[in-house]
Amino acid sequence: DRSVHQIQSGQVIVDLQSVVKELVENSLDAGATSIEVRLKNHGLDAIEVQDNGKGISPEDFETIALKHYTSKLSSYDDLNSLDTFGFRGEALSSLCALSNFHITTAREQDGAVGKKLDFELSGKLKSASVSAAPRGTTIFVENIFHNLPVRRKELEKNIKREYGKALGLLYQYACVSVGVRFSVSNQMPKGKKVVAFSTKSNTTTKENITNVFGAKTLLALTKLDLYLEMAPSVGPSTQSARNWSTQATNRSLEVHVQGHISKPIFGEGRQAPDRQMFFVNSRPCQLPQVSKAINEVYKSFNVSQTPFIFANFVMDTNAYDVNVSPDKRTILLHDQTALLESLKNAL
Ligand code: ADP
Ligand code: MG
Repeated sequence: DRSVHQIQSGQVIVDLQSVVKELVENSLDAGATSIEVRLKNHGLDAIEVQDNGKGISPEDFETIALKHYTSKLSSYDDLNSLDTFGFRGEALSSLCALSNFHITTAREQDGAVGKKLDFELSGKLKSASVSAAPRGTTIFVENIFHNLPVRRKELEKNIKREYGKALGLLYQYACVSVGVRFSVSNQMPKGKKVVAFSTKSNTTTKENITNVFGAKTLLALTKLDLYLEMAPSVGPSTQSARNWSTQATNRSLEVHVQGHISKPIFGEGRQAPDRQMFFVNSRPCQLPQVSKAINEVYKSFNVSQTPFIFANFVMDTNAYDVNVSPDKRTILLHDQTALLESLKNAL
């Protein structure tokens, strides 16, 4: 039973990036306006995410790390109008099974008395003890994958690349989260803490981008503000589309593309995927086809470099499906071909 739980957990938490993603999304869901991500030894020794969000209610201590516990989904209908990132209740339970895991939390309502929560591998609460803790929640994930030796070895071997991937995702959250201060640091065992980047509680995505990538990037940015309108598609193209959004197909699709795009500044030889950031309704995601389409437009003007892109595709939630992968990073656009055509023309 324990090993089944471990294997399932290993499918939710696959790498360093997914740890960071789940924890940051929980902090955002908790309404945090300040999120500090502290990695020790690039995350191998510890991943700590501290927020100033609403904290965890004592009533939830027993259940919070149990599988499928979530405080966020109240009815099936909510699945189609998700305004929180989480709803599966799998992240904390998985982290419990795969790391040395504990939480500190403190809430205004409880007189700001901090509690330290310790759990068994199964997610069962072991103890809740009084402990000094800042208001909000801090999640501590130590020695991730310590009980999956092969996975742990892989992570150790590729840690620089894995760290880079995690950082790339953090750029996305930091840039898109207006009003939220981010600070991301790494501390090597004998070294001092190095801040990878930090933002302030800025009021625009442009200011966030400047904080993350530097003022030079800002100089080159042009506002991206496109309205695309596409005819309704003939019919649902995939099984998933059929299941999730039968209504979407007989309406025309309107997409508002908001963001910033630069002059071509990245040489073709230099891969800079983390400088091309895509979002659907402000949710960070990977849209490699969109990236390819935009780069092709630049190429068609005989430009050999690729641009910096920050593009948020605002569209009806029926027009796509985020539930195709456990980490919700892969988004299935039901009308991708039409969207790409329309985007290319507009550019
Ligand atoms: P989900 O996000 O899908 O609900 P998780 O396993 O990520 O599931 O989290 C379980 C529950 O723990 C959440 O529903 C929430 O109630 C609580 N929680 C997790 N992280 C935080 C946090 N940073 N602040 C407040 N509550 C949190
Ligand atoms: Mg979550």
